[in-house]
Amino acid sequence: MGRVNDRKIALVTGANKGIGFAVAHGLGALGNTVAVGARDDARRDEAVERLRASGADAFGVALDVTSDESVAAAAATIARTAGRLDVLVNNAGIAGRTDGGAQDPTTLDLDVLRTVLDTNVFGVVRVTNAMLPLLRRADAPRVVNVSSNMGSLTLRTGPVMAAYAPSKSMLNSITAQYARRLADTHVIVNACCPGYVATDFTGFAAPRTPEQGAAIAIRLATLPDDGPRGGFFDDEGVVPW
Ligand code: NDP
Repeated sequence: MGRVNDRKIALVTGANKGIGFAVAHGLGALGNTVAVGARDDARRDEAVERLRASGADAFGVALDVTSDESVAAAAATIARTAGRLDVLVNNAGIAGRTDGGAQDPTTLDLDVLRTVLDTNVFGVVRVTNAMLPLLRRADAPRVVNVSSNMGSLTLRTGPVMAAYAPSKSMLNSITAQYARRLADTHVIVNACCPGYVATDFTGFAAPRTPEQGAAIAIRLATLPDDGPRGGFFDDEGVVPW
């Protein structure tokens, strides 16, 4: 396993496409070994092949963030393959069902809320806690939670999205709690907003490329030891909570 021990190991959830793939690609280009977390076998294999073809060191990790069993198995795979984890990018996320491009709070189906929270919030807690023992073994562990400025209670951007936006508000809040809990450790935890990015998520009708969206997550994944903790950032700097 000398091959991986020389390099940092970075797990990206939802890495088979969109911003997650671009984060994986960017971290691979920086010399990290990338663990491609994805729930679909074929999509994961294809992403690993594309990353390897670009020169990155990558391997696939079966990972459905809504499943305790899948997440535990993913942690076991990384423990076996690498023995530690240097970077975790919690990128996997869903918008949830919309009606006319919005989620109206006055008619919200609670199952939509549950589904969105299960991926965007519980998924992050599930994955982070499963990976923390591996992160603690690294010299300079970094955790990045891919959030959204739609979760900013100050900005209140975008359409009314009564499941998605609060899921990102809660993700921001949980990021702050992780940072507080881990303040005396070398584990640095932050949240980021990628901006409005052309992916499946937005029907590819958005101005930014996945590479542009990935940049802030990559920056937070490679922070120096004196970098910020428990913050919310985009390309421009601090995003208001
Ligand atoms: P995409 O829909 O293109 O990609 C989402 C990724 O998450 C896919 O790889 C998807 O896998 C994966 N995923 C979803 N559910 C699960 C699950 N249960 N387990 C594992 N993986 C899962 O979206 P984006 O790349 O645009 O979004 C990535 C992140 O960025 C999300 O957290 C989103 O909220 C956030 N974001 C995006 C913005 C944008 O403008 N695009 C703006 C602000 C934030 P699969 O292919 O199997 O479905």
